[in-house]
Amino acid sequence: MSNVRIQIHCPKCDYTEDYHRMLGQCPSCGSTYLDAIYITDEPLPWPEALRDRPSSMWRFRELLPILDDANIVSMGEGNTPLVRAENLAAMLGLKHLYFKDERQGPTGSFKDRQASLAISTLREHGVNEMVVASTGNVAIAYSAYTSRASMRLTVFTISSVPPEKMREVMIYGTELVKVTGTYDQAKQVALRYAQQNDLFYDRGVKNIAAKESMKTIAFEIAEQLGAIYGPDEDGRPWRTPDWYFQAVSGGLGPVGIMKAFRELEQFGLSHGLPQLGLIQSEGCAPMVRAWENGEAIATPVLNPQTRIATVATDVPGIAYTLLREEMLHTGGSFEAVSDEEAYQALKHVARLEGMSVEPATALAFAGLIAMVRKGQVHPNEIIVVNVTGHTFPVEKHLFTEDVFREMDVTPAAQTEIPQEGLLAALESVGRTVERVLIVEDDPGASQLVMRILKAYGVPEVFQAYDGREGIDQIEALLPDLIVLDLMMPGVDGFGVLDYLKAREPLRDIPVVVVTAKDLTAEEKARLTSQVDSLLAKGSFMDEDVLQGLMNEKLR
Ligand SMILES: *Cc1c(COP(=O)(O)O)cnc(C)c1O
Repeated sequence: MSNVRIQIHCPKCDYTEDYHRMLGQCPSCGSTYLDAIYITDEPLPWPEALRDRPSSMWRFRELLPILDDANIVSMGEGNTPLVRAENLAAMLGLKHLYFKDERQGPTGSFKDRQASLAISTLREHGVNEMVVASTGNVAIAYSAYTSRASMRLTVFTISSVPPEKMREVMIYGTELVKVTGTYDQAKQVALRYAQQNDLFYDRGVKNIAAKESMKTIAFEIAEQLGAIYGPDEDGRPWRTPDWYFQAVSGGLGPVGIMKAFRELEQFGLSHGLPQLGLIQSEGCAPMVRAWENGEAIATPVLNPQTRIATVATDVPGIAYTLLREEMLHTGGSFEAVSDEEAYQALKHVARLEGMSVEPATALAFAGLIAMVRKGQVHPNEIIVVNVTGHTFPVEKHLFTEDVFREMDVTPAAQTEIPQEGLLAALESVGRTVERVLIVEDDPGASQLVMRILKAYGVPEVFQAYDGREGIDQIEALLPDLIVLDLMMPGVDGFGVLDYLKAREPLRDIPVVVVTAKDLTAEEKARLTSQVDSLLAKGSFMDEDVLQGLMNEKLR
């Protein structure tokens, strides 16, 4: 189909052979970490040839290690949208923030790409039964794709995987073994089982197909950014982002991503490598600890303490060492955030961007927020976050009990409940803030606050664009809450506050001040006696900020 020659290469001893068989290890030095490399005499026919190809990751066929297209097992995986995250960007003070929406794969996570290529490769080499260890999503994706390929699959998983995910695995007829122990122990049991029964065992990052599949995410990102920003100054059609963010467990994803950007550079399609923002959960963050300690090999976590099973890799392997090397050259860092921070970020993103993700994915959002706050990420950089998986098998501890407000309005309930009971129920629903006035001269900032309030269910939001107009509207509307900018032409925020505080009933309206100004001690003192909450512009993600906006009145 093309003039690309695929070879298997050992990075350790440089052994090379043309690709025709599956190697578990290097025939020369025995290393178990091998790469596929691609050699051409002519330029790749990209991007032109890609335009008319069917929508899936197999558009990038030339740089994937498959010998015969007839072996491809596909369900349209890949070619996912790159979605601009404008609201979250505005909250974080960023200009170019994008989500690579991997939730849109056939089984709802980016593991679909891995399953498609890994299973296709096995089919090509006549393997029809395999074993894999998984923290959930590989189990689901491999189950779906082995079913399509009429292969038998045995999965070893850990007991913290949510039952919803386990049930989905079983729908496909997969043999599922739940190991009570750490993920590393589950892997060891799986390997032993495979050896005893002479079955193929998928080694994750050491499986060439698994790693190669992840490249397609980067190919798409570069192509999609090229369409947005146009060719670079040297005429290369595609673009490398400044940052790639992902929640990591074993680290397979970013290893493949970096290999892809190298290949795009090799073939003249884009330039350079992204910095990496790789996020782990505090309770199981061996890569982060090793990175912080300057160690090239990560120490296993003996007692993983995260509720996010998807990322519970306690013993990181070679991926950490490779990714650390990448970061030392191109920048970026490993970051840990707590499960709670991930859950918070999950809710913010759902409310602001309309995207519901699984907690593992949300670690990446929380990590991005943390790194923006620390100043590691700059406002003008192009940032892509891998939205790795969907939340439908959501874990139950994501929500506390008081999330739902219950109202029984069936006729039976109405006859049984005394009238006041129903009224009281209605009243408690109606006690939220109904009407908010935003007094802010910058229309962009005003729109942002408006969107946030709408996202949190405030029905009436009004805008005034200077202090004078603000005072008029306050008198006319008597809002339940005022969001007030300090720096405005004419009557400024201080002026509005002075006016309010001198008048009944205006003085009782809660005021939330939003400001970009560094306040003097005197100004601060003046404000603390007059306002309910003080927010700094560009730091809207702070917990106290949202709480300030939501206030106990808003629940
Ligand atoms: C597998 C997975 C990760 C971690 O990816 P790695 O690159 O293998 O570390 C993150 N999020 C989700 C939803 C996953 O399924």
